[in-house]
Amino acid sequence: MERGRRVPRDSSIPRLPITILEGVCDYCGCCVGVCSADAIELRASSIEIDEERCTLCMKCVHACPLGALLYQGTLKIEGKP
Ligand code: SF4
Ligand code: SF4
Repeated sequence: MERGRRVPRDSSIPRLPITILEGVCDYCGCCVGVCSADAIELRASSIEIDEERCTLCMKCVHACPLGALLYQGTLKIEGKP
């Protein structure tokens, strides 16, 4: 998909289960560097994850030194109930 092009969101698909704690984030950019999907947009005082591009790999959640990214979903492991 072309960068910057937004696809209208299908309301039947759940929203991205990653919450950005804006008051905690210091906009260091570590999460941007680990995102191989190029889904994180960092500006001077805000950060945004493009839910259309995000593959839920969780690299950003683990990379954030401040714990500013919270995963709030349930991951299903193949073969487990
Ligand atoms: S790694 Fe954490 S603190 Fe740094 S920009 Fe990303 S969310 Fe913010
Ligand atoms: S979960 Fe993975 S793909 Fe999604 S924004 Fe974080 S690093 Fe990028």
